Amino acid sequence: MKLRKLLFRGAVALLLLIAVMAVRTLMQPSLQVEVEAVAKVHLDETALALRLASALRFPTISSSNMSGPELQPFADLLDWFEISYPTVYAQLRAERVAQHSLVLTWLGADASAAPGLFMAHLDVVPVEPGTEADWTHPAFGGVVADGFIWGRGALDVKSGAVALHEAIRELVAAGFQPQRSLYFAFGHDEEIGGAAGNGAIVPWMQERGIELQFVIDEGGFILDGLIPELEPAPVALIDIAEKAYCTIHLRAKSVGGHSSMPPVSTAVGKIAAAIHKLESNPFPLRLTAPIEAQFRHLAPEMPLLQRFALSNLWLTAPLIKSQLAADVRARSLIQTSTAATIIAGGVKENVVPQHATATVNFRLLPGDTPEAVLIHVTDLIDDPDVVAELGLTTEPAAPSSANSATYKAIARSAREIHPNCIVLPTLLVGATDSRHYRSIAKEVYRFSGLRLHLDDVAGFHGTNERMRIDYFADGVRIMMRMIQNLSSESNLPKN
Ligand SMILES: [Zn+2]
Repeated sequence: MKLRKLLFRGAVALLLLIAVMAVRTLMQPSLQVEVEAVAKVHLDETALALRLASALRFPTISSSNMSGPELQPFADLLDWFEISYPTVYAQLRAERVAQHSLVLTWLGADASAAPGLFMAHLDVVPVEPGTEADWTHPAFGGVVADGFIWGRGALDVKSGAVALHEAIRELVAAGFQPQRSLYFAFGHDEEIGGAAGNGAIVPWMQERGIELQFVIDEGGFILDGLIPELEPAPVALIDIAEKAYCTIHLRAKSVGGHSSMPPVSTAVGKIAAAIHKLESNPFPLRLTAPIEAQFRHLAPEMPLLQRFALSNLWLTAPLIKSQLAADVRARSLIQTSTAATIIAGGVKENVVPQHATATVNFRLLPGDTPEAVLIHVTDLIDDPDVVAELGLTTEPAAPSSANSATYKAIARSAREIHPNCIVLPTLLVGATDSRHYRSIAKEVYRFSGLRLHLDDVAGFHGTNERMRIDYFADGVRIMMRMIQNLSSESNLPKN
């Protein structure tokens, strides 16, 4: 009798719990910004494609210690912009900073409104030696074929720099005047850290007393094929945060000498053991604010089962984390990553080296700091003969809001052009030049407005980088809407 009563009570409690979870699941309203579809402005898509193709022909490959010959393509590209977009350069103030980076200033009607900044970098990564023949069209050929514009920079991110110029030109032609002042920054060395380009533009802005309301840089794309449950709707990703960067150098020492009489443990062995410890003790899987925000925005759009899982993270987080961890790309969203990238030691096969070194690159989730990672690494290795030191690091920054007027204006712009797209906030696992602006910007978002299929993501820094012609035109239309939607204080209602 007693047992029956207990079982009954247990069953009631379970039913109640399920009811609460079901209510939680079903009560989630859509967080998508509701928009009125905007008639697509007419653009000559063929002419657009040919202009992007022209820009791709400048081999603006950034590398450290760039000198005359390597810098010439940057000067040529900047000249090409001026020649190709005369009305833009007649209306906006153009200033070259650090010689090969560019700032355009579009003065707003309201001098008291905090200005905004749009960014895209002009440099690209080189083609990996030996892979040139794998390209369907030459990487710097600037070919338009099969509905695509082909070439290095078509995705990352000369397409963004050209789209901004196209959008400004269309708006100038339409007589548009921004309320707030708008800046457009085009750095020339993002792929090698951006110290010379945007690293110089920030103090240039500080000298002029510029304090930005927002920065919008490259980053999130509009992706086809990302979430099967949402197909055919594309997913627009707005990066509200990016992982911090942290390199740690390891240096091991041991007794050197003749390899016929080696010590029990050599410097090479110690370095190998240290890396093995780091790889076999990865950082914990962790859901951070940007990813939880992503789930909140995604849940209401998903079929019931997934909606249930995403709406009840208190119960389902372990399952979701383990599912994400099974995919390399998804795992990087929920883990501070560890990548041993360089190892060196020894000069001759019969000499025991006295030193060996390794470099390990970490990408930090929000909340982790380079200093904490160094302590963690030192504790894990636990060997007095192996010294760990911080190399290049970036300081972690707080995520921007997925509920701000700026975020909503970006989301609105995407949905005005792609009305069925699902907009999600997320975390960028890479790094962008926008980080240079933290000290002078209230909000930082990373969204390019450009659409592509998941299959074409491999082109980033890879082979056959390409952009669909009609998607590029839509990217220009989204840029136009972003500039319009973000250019007025009245378009940005206070929270
Ligand atoms: Zn880039």
